[in-house]
Amino acid sequence: TLDGSFQLHNGVKMPYLGLGVYLSENGKEVIQAVEWALEAGYRHIDTASIYKNEEGVGEGLRHSGISRDDQFIVSKVWNADQGFESTLRAYDESLKRLGLEYLDLYLIHWPTKGKYKETWKALEKIYAEGRVRAIGVSNFLQHQLEDLLTEAEVVPMVNQMEFHPYLVQQELLDFCASKSIQYEAWSPLMQGHIFQLEVMREMADKYGKSIAQIVLRWDLQKGVVTIPKSVKKERIISNADLFDFELSAEDVAILDGLNRGKRFGPDPDNFDF
Ligand code: NAD
Repeated sequence: TLDGSFQLHNGVKMPYLGLGVYLSENGKEVIQAVEWALEAGYRHIDTASIYKNEEGVGEGLRHSGISRDDQFIVSKVWNADQGFESTLRAYDESLKRLGLEYLDLYLIHWPTKGKYKETWKALEKIYAEGRVRAIGVSNFLQHQLEDLLTEAEVVPMVNQMEFHPYLVQQELLDFCASKSIQYEAWSPLMQGHIFQLEVMREMADKYGKSIAQIVLRWDLQKGVVTIPKSVKKERIISNADLFDFELSAEDVAILDGLNRGKRFGPDPDNFDF
């Protein structure tokens, strides 16, 4: 089944697996990807206002015939929209583009210096009004989370981070777990680089699974929500086929051991748009 989920600290259930849609073109490409994903059993879609495809995501959701209650839809406030009033506006604009009345999760996309606390207050207001089911952050390192927590009334339910065998950040995972912040992986397939690793090929052969299935299964066994991206129907379907096997503790440790602190995306400490 594809309906496995982690429970967020406010009781909301977040599906283990979602479809990422970064760089999926607004229009036919993203509409189809979302439709195929829902058909394959995904219930969770990860978009952002900066992806400029919320309209297409919304259209795919409507075509799918899956009831809104069964969908888990995530978007993010972009850096340029950070601040209290502008975030309130950005949320409404995302809803409008998606054609939705609420999101399941709304995230601060990046910890923009000097802005993210005000932005968080806006998310807290939207949450208090019952207009979003959960709120969280993305790309927050421990020091940024600690700083946010000095003033936050609501502890973020999620931290969405770059996460794959080359960037494990186990201390950050442990810190988030200690605060009941659900960890979520972006670029779980290392933006495609994972497919070149010999050790992944060997492990995939050993289990009779694909490399994508092995690494996504590792995410789940580490307690991490994961959102692989694809716009190809066969890959969308096969990436979700990870619930019929289990990695041994030794193999989980082997993947953990590949860590080299390597990022394929920007560093949250040096990201200034
Ligand atoms: P990813 O690690 O999911 O890799 C995607 C690429 O892998 C695809 O373009 C495709 O070419 C390839 N691929 C997918 N399935 C495959 C398969 N079965 N076989 C061979 N190749 C396959 O990369 P991503 O898109 O960067 O990350 C996933 C999602 O995370 C994004 O779409 C987005 O939703 C989210 N994200 C969030 C942030 C953030 O700052 N919060 C940043 C980047 C991405």
